[in-house]
Amino acid sequence: MLYRAHVLVEMTSNSIHLGASQVKERLEREIAQAGLSSEIKVLETGPLGGGVPSPFLMVYPDNVMYAPVHVSDIEEIVTEHLLKGRPVERLIAAGARPERKEGYFQPSPLAKEKRVVLRNSGLIDPGSIEDYIARDGYLALGKALSMTRQQVVDMIKDSGLLGRGGAGFPTGLKLEFTMKAAGDEKYVVCNADEGEPGTFKDRLILEGDPHSILEAMAICAYAVGADEGYIYIRAEYPESIRAVEKAIESATESGLLGDGILGSDFSFRAKIRQGAGAYICGEETSLLESIEGKRGEPRVKPPYPPQAGLWGKPTAINNVETLASIPPIILHGADWFKNIGTPTCPGTKVFTLTGNVNMLGLIEVPMGITLRELLYDVGGGIRGGREMKVVQTGGPSGGTMTPDMLDVPMAFDTLTQFNSALGSGALIVIDDSHCIVDVVKNFCEFFLHESCGKCTPCRIGNKRIVEILDRIQRGKGQENDLELLRILGENMKETSFCGLGQAAPNPLMKCLDYFREEFEKHVTEHLCDCQVCEMKPKRKKLSV
Ligand code: SF4
Repeated sequence: MLYRAHVLVEMTSNSIHLGASQVKERLEREIAQAGLSSEIKVLETGPLGGGVPSPFLMVYPDNVMYAPVHVSDIEEIVTEHLLKGRPVERLIAAGARPERKEGYFQPSPLAKEKRVVLRNSGLIDPGSIEDYIARDGYLALGKALSMTRQQVVDMIKDSGLLGRGGAGFPTGLKLEFTMKAAGDEKYVVCNADEGEPGTFKDRLILEGDPHSILEAMAICAYAVGADEGYIYIRAEYPESIRAVEKAIESATESGLLGDGILGSDFSFRAKIRQGAGAYICGEETSLLESIEGKRGEPRVKPPYPPQAGLWGKPTAINNVETLASIPPIILHGADWFKNIGTPTCPGTKVFTLTGNVNMLGLIEVPMGITLRELLYDVGGGIRGGREMKVVQTGGPSGGTMTPDMLDVPMAFDTLTQFNSALGSGALIVIDDSHCIVDVVKNFCEFFLHESCGKCTPCRIGNKRIVEILDRIQRGKGQENDLELLRILGENMKETSFCGLGQAAPNPLMKCLDYFREEFEKHVTEHLCDCQVCEMKPKRKKLSV
C-alpha cells in the first residue's frame, strides 16, 4: 500500500521511559479517528542522538521533527499537520529539521557530528529488514563473501579500527588471531553487556539498528571461519532483546542468516544469551563463562579468547559499537575510514553525555574531538552556567579529566598520554557544586557492589576504601587516612585478578592527586566547602 506520509516515533528504552508508547498509541488513535489510516503510516525508529530530545516524532516526506513530543501534543499535530498540512511550528524541534542528502533523509547534523555507527538510527524502522536493505544493508556482507577471508581481515586491519569497548585493541588483529587459531569450530560473540554508570550507547545502537550488528557478526564469522555467534545482552534490556530477536527472525527468513547465505557455501546462525546484569560479565572471559551457563567470573589469561574462548574454542569477541563500524568499512574501504578521526585512532566515537551538562544523550563525532568541543559546542555547556569540576570518561573505571585537560583530543592514545582513558565513551560531567569526596565515594560504592568476590584485593579493598571515605565524609577522618587510601588503591591496582579490581581505584587515585587540598580539608579541618558532607548541616545529594 502506498502512503501519503510516514510518521516515525522513537521507541527505545529511554524514550519508552519518557512516554513514547503512550505517544504512539495516541497518534495511531488520532490518525484513525481523522480517517487517515489508509494515508499515513506510523512506524517505530531508534534514537537520533545529536541532542534531539526524546521522544521525537518525525514526519516524512515533510522532514518535520517534533521533539520532545508529549501525548497532549498529538491531537494538534494530527489535526493541523497531518490533516491540514500545516506543521505546528511551536512544537518543531529547534535546529533539528532534517535535510535530504546523498539520496537519503538525514537529520541536520550538529556541526561536529559524524555518523558512521548511527548511520541508520532514527531514520529507519529497526524492525524492518526492508528499511535496512534500502539503506545498503547486507551489501557489505555480499561484498565480503566475494572476497577471501584474509582480504576481509586485511581490510579491517588496514582501517585501523580499534575496539570501542574500552580497551582499544585493534579489531583486525583480533580477527586475524581467531582466523589463524587451530580448530574447525570457532565462534563470534557480540558483547552487548554494559552496566557502568553513564554508559548506555550499545543498548541504543542495538535498538536503533540491530541488523547492522547481525551483518557485522556474519562478516566476522566469515572472516574467522565460524558458523555460529552469540549476542550477550543483559536481561534488563528487554527492548534490545526484542529488537535483536526480530532482526534474527527476519534475516533468517530472508536467507541472510542460516545456510548458504547469498548463494555461497557460508552458513551462520546468531543466538541471544541473556545476562543477569552483573558488571563483571562485560569482561570478555566472564561473559564467556556466563554464556556457558557458569557463574560470571573472569578466567586466567592467557590463553585469550582468540585461542581458547567459548567452550575452549577460538572466539572473536567484539563490542556493539565496534561491530557497527565494520559493514561501512567493508563497503567503502579502509581509506575511507582512515580519513575520519585521527591518524592513530581512525573513525568515530559514540559518546554518552550525562551529569551536569545541558545536552544529555548520545552523540557520534570523529575521534580526536576535544573535551571542550564536546562539552561546550555539542553539549551546550555546563548546566546552570556553573564551572566544570571534573569529567569522568568511560564511566567510573575510566579516566578523570580536569579543566586543564579541556583541549586534549579524545582518542585512545592521546588520553593515555595524559594518564587518562577513553573507555567506553561515557562522559559523566560534574560541576563545581559537588564535593569530590562524595563523588569518589559514589564511584567506589559502585565497584564494591559489582566486585564478583573472586579475589581478596578487590573484594576487601573496595570495602575498606568505602569505609574510610565514609568516615571522612562524617567528619571522622584520621590523620593517615589519605595515605591509607593511596596504599590500598596501589595494592588493588597491582594485585587484583581482573580489570574491574585494577581499575576500581582509578577515580580515587586521580582525585587524590588533583583535589588533594579538598580531601585534606575534610580530614584535618572537618570542612566540606560544597556543604555536601554530613559534617555540615546541609547535605546535597550527588546527581549524576
Ligand atoms: Fe572479581 Fe574483583 Fe577479583 Fe575481578 S578483581 S576477579 S571483579 S573480585
